[in-house]
Amino acid sequence: MPLDEYRRKRDFTKSPEPEGAARHGRHSRAPYFCVQKHLASHLHYDLRLEIDGVLVSWAVPKGPSLDPSVKRLAMQTEDHPLDYGSFEGVIPEGYGAGIVMLWDRGTWAPRVDDLPAALAKGDLKFTLDGYKLKGSWALVRTRGGARPGERDDGRSWLLIKHRDDWSGALDITTFAPLSVKSEGNFENILAADVPAVWVTNRPAKSGATGALLAEVIERAASLKAAAEPDPSPSVARKRTRRALHK
Ligand code: MN
Repeated sequence: MPLDEYRRKRDFTKSPEPEGAARHGRHSRAPYFCVQKHLASHLHYDLRLEIDGVLVSWAVPKGPSLDPSVKRLAMQTEDHPLDYGSFEGVIPEGYGAGIVMLWDRGTWAPRVDDLPAALAKGDLKFTLDGYKLKGSWALVRTRGGARPGERDDGRSWLLIKHRDDWSGALDITTFAPLSVKSEGNFENILAADVPAVWVTNRPAKSGATGALLAEVIERAASLKAAAEPDPSPSVARKRTRRALHK
């Protein structure tokens, strides 16, 4: 256990130091889940479930669907640390470069007796209690995610909503597109950071994602400019011109 030594050296009845959050949700609180909307080389939604002290993660390219007849591809990615689950912001470069929005968060519960066995088998039934996603869901590992000639690495799953009070035809990604943390959109998150970060080297340049990112960058820059308390003469001039010609 990674925190054993930390804890062994301290007496928490006498020290105000944190014991280290209970890393195993089943002891003291329901395990955490989140969905991070991630505008990177492709727009996708990262579903993360707290299991044994880490966030087990799947990238869902089209995002979750509340329609039980719609099965959404969910590619399992690397486990993330628990602290990552509240992250929202800008990854300026490198792996995952782009904008991360905390799109949903809450708690989850497995609906299986043996969670490790369910994961190994690739058939996990569970409930979500988030702001946007609720009720009964399933993650089912699928074969055939691999391209011809490639070995199936077992990372392809399907995310499926079960029929219940929280299922329906509502397109939740369109209906509720904003952050549950800042209540902002991608341009608000970028404007809060440095919108000029990708002037030359954008994470996505072509296709629909490239166009979306270019728009986000432009709107973030004008949000930031509008929020500047003391604009440079050239910005002030431009803004005046824009206002005059509206
Ligand atoms: Mn991602």
